[in-house]
Amino acid sequence: MAQLKQPQQRLCTSALVLAILLSGCAHRPANSAPVNILDVAVAWKQTAAEYEALYYQAYNLARMQLQGALDRRQPGEPTLAVILDMDDTILDTRDYWAQLLKADQDFFDDQRWDAWIPQNRVQAAPGALDFLQFCAANQVEVFYVTSRNQGDATYQYALDHLIENGFPNADTDHLTVLTDSSNKQIRQAEIASSHNVVLLMGDNLNDFSRAYYVDGVAARKALMQLDRDLFGSRYILLPNPTDGHWVRAIFGDSEPLPSNDNRHQWHDAATGNQP
Ligand SMILES: [Mg+2]
Repeated sequence: MAQLKQPQQRLCTSALVLAILLSGCAHRPANSAPVNILDVAVAWKQTAAEYEALYYQAYNLARMQLQGALDRRQPGEPTLAVILDMDDTILDTRDYWAQLLKADQDFFDDQRWDAWIPQNRVQAAPGALDFLQFCAANQVEVFYVTSRNQGDATYQYALDHLIENGFPNADTDHLTVLTDSSNKQIRQAEIASSHNVVLLMGDNLNDFSRAYYVDGVAARKALMQLDRDLFGSRYILLPNPTDGHWVRAIFGDSEPLPSNDNRHQWHDAATGNQP
């Protein structure tokens, strides 16, 4: 009988080992669809009414703040102004992210972005046009400061996006395109030297102050805490769960490469293991 049990015991042991191995390897349920790490963030951008409501909230708040500045305005004061970022602030880039996912990419792809920009598929972000028209109707100058680089035509592409969406002050005096830097502070200071800048709007803390351009998640959060009273008053922030300097804080690079190490690093960041 003892000899008869040995094959059964080996079978049971093998099954146990296999079960342990499978349980250790099973990161997702059997028969589940392949997961692209960008799916949830982009699905939220594409489908959540909350995403679009946050834009309306931001632009409603901006209008309230601007109305207050208009009410307080004294004769002889410099012209009021607002400074805005473009992509994911006044412009809706969701079509790019949809195309990226359809191509089975799971990290921002700079080449694909540069090819997408000239396609003129950007649209005005929810609430942006109404707010900017309110600015124009009240003689508030609108300045656009963006970081983009699609070669020689970069500036024209950006200007076309303003014109085609009907935004006011769509001209070379009011549009600044930084092709080799994301440091907007120099241009912001120039505008502030001749205008009363009431608001800065963007989807990246860097759109408000270069001081936020620091390494590490914790350092960035600590700086944000110092400015907490400015959010909703001088700084109006739009949501962006797909890209920005918050990604740089995790990876040390705003556009990390699509490597397995980086895919694991997303998971570490999501589970609180990010240093
Ligand atoms: Mg932006």
